[in-house]
Amino acid sequence: MSRVALVTGGSRGIGRAIAVELARTGHRVAINYARRPDAAEATAGLVTEAGGTAITIQADVGDDDDVAAMVETVITELGPVEVLVNNAGITRDGLLLRMSSADWDDVMSTNLRSLYLCSKSVLRAMVRARWGRIISIGSVSGIAGNPGQTNYAATKAGVIGFTKSLAKEVGSRGITVNAVAPGFVETELTAELGEETAAAAVNSIALGRLGRPAEVASLVGYLASDAAAYITGQAIVVDGGLAL
Ligand code: NAP
Repeated sequence: MSRVALVTGGSRGIGRAIAVELARTGHRVAINYARRPDAAEATAGLVTEAGGTAITIQADVGDDDDVAAMVETVITELGPVEVLVNNAGITRDGLLLRMSSADWDDVMSTNLRSLYLCSKSVLRAMVRARWGRIISIGSVSGIAGNPGQTNYAATKAGVIGFTKSLAKEVGSRGITVNAVAPGFVETELTAELGEETAAAAVNSIALGRLGRPAEVASLVGYLASDAAAYITGQAIVVDGGLAL
């Protein structure tokens, strides 16, 4: 059975690994991106190499009209979304006293408003099918907090509250809703940290290294599968022992 998966922010980093993992496990994959069509096309190429089918769709996941158009495109080209992975996310770090309202609002829109918009847009079809998977990428920042990340951590804590509440709303319809909370994973997002911060992070990770995108993607692949049918409302940490 070839299910349809939509991965937001699927063009790079963790989202790219998730798109490839879902292709490997037999899904037809819609890869969403915001600004970099080249990266999205490269991911589509990897999906094809993995034996899968991919389409790429530009959309700002925090924008009502963009999300509505994106979901329509997936339905037309692949069919109703059966697996939604809310992965798109940004950081706009800074101490609260220096944080601009734009940096607060941008992070809220991309990291949290997107869950409201994307999940709502695919939910009716999942309810009708009595099967669905909604998996959202949180962060250990949303559990443990992190100085300089009040905006980001607030959205990632919000991902967990959203996940638990929606899991309770739709559980009786065969739809599971879960979150995956990574620690430090090697992507362009963490490359911005700088060497000193990355080295300090490694010191506090039990496994003594940053994570790889594929190590988050494998859990997402499992949560999307029939084997994970009895797991819902969870926020599962994948951090190499950072937040112990
Ligand atoms: P990344 O390498 O910076 O990639 C971000 C992805 O999100 C890109 O595909 C980007 O597309 C897309 N994106 C950004 N803004 C968007 C928007 N408004 N609409 C649609 N797509 C948008 O990030 P990453 O490290 O893979 O992170 C992926 C997720 O994991 C995020 O939710 C992040 O918070 C979370 N996470 C990451 C880490 C880590 O250590 N890397 C740790 C914990 C949690 P374009 O390039 O086209 O703009």
